[in-house]
Amino acid sequence: MKACLLDLPAPIETNPLKYMEVQRPDPAAGHVLIRVSCCGVCRTDLHVVEGELTPRKSPVIPGHQVVGVVEKAGESARRFRVGARVGVAWLHHVDGTCPYCRRGEENLCDNPGFTGYSEDGGYAEYVVAPEGFVYSIPEVFPDEQAAPLLCAGIIGFRSLRLSGIKSGERLGFYGFGAAAHLAMQVARHWNVEVYASTRDARHQRLALDLGAAWAGETFTEPPEKLDAAIIFAPAGEIVPAALKALRKGGTLVLGGIHMSPIPSLDYNLLYQERVIRSVANNTRQDGENFLRIAAEIPIRTRVQMFPLSEANRALNALKNDAIPGAAVLKIGS
Ligand SMILES: [Zn+2]
Ligand SMILES: [Zn+2]
Repeated sequence: MKACLLDLPAPIETNPLKYMEVQRPDPAAGHVLIRVSCCGVCRTDLHVVEGELTPRKSPVIPGHQVVGVVEKAGESARRFRVGARVGVAWLHHVDGTCPYCRRGEENLCDNPGFTGYSEDGGYAEYVVAPEGFVYSIPEVFPDEQAAPLLCAGIIGFRSLRLSGIKSGERLGFYGFGAAAHLAMQVARHWNVEVYASTRDARHQRLALDLGAAWAGETFTEPPEKLDAAIIFAPAGEIVPAALKALRKGGTLVLGGIHMSPIPSLDYNLLYQERVIRSVANNTRQDGENFLRIAAEIPIRTRVQMFPLSEANRALNALKNDAIPGAAVLKIGS
């Protein structure tokens, strides 16, 4: 099969992904083989490719927002029929036995596997995954619209949930890429007022198009105090600015897997019971809940398509803020 392989992490400007022929995987017991139609491009892929995340498998095929159809079921895998349209997300498997799994916090599992990082992912014509971690894709979404829901969408949704935002309140987004443009549609559906802070003028326009009450530069203070805010940009220097925009008792959620160092803070920015918290991965329940709500709304994903052979170009564009919405690789028919 054709795939994009990463041998060694390197700056994306050097085009480290190699488009090449590799062995098609075979599904182990309890796993399914999926013929990939589309794979979303996530900032986490960039962190894997550039080595901000410590390599867990080498070489590795990135990609963890995979949509395709079940081609073959491994021994004892009975959850999906051959031909079913399915998705694979970041959480590839968990041990099911550690204290976190037993508390219902499988997103914090001590022995997890991650698609496109510790396991081969969807920048390929085929991928295998344990059937228990595979999602049914709601009919309302075409393949390319569905792919970004599987990480940008699910993580954005978990971030919204952890922000504690309620109907009628004010929510800030810092960084307005794939995750924010999806989370924003859920927020608007919940009658939340959205304030979008982002350095890129195209992303500010997209936020206003999607119903933001205000959009401005990252370090311009929004005109109203915020009940909660979510930082999706991987830039620690935004943390003090976002705290400053919060009301007393407000929550700041850090939605990324990687962030540059956070500068030292004046305690006054945190005092008055403001909260900072991170988001790590997601549970399968988050995924199921989000896909149901996304189909009800229904969420519309802005996508920019690239062929699989141009994954390096897609990641370069993502790094340079050149994607309004989400980048998606078109792989099969
Ligand atoms: Zn566990
Ligand atoms: Zn992701």
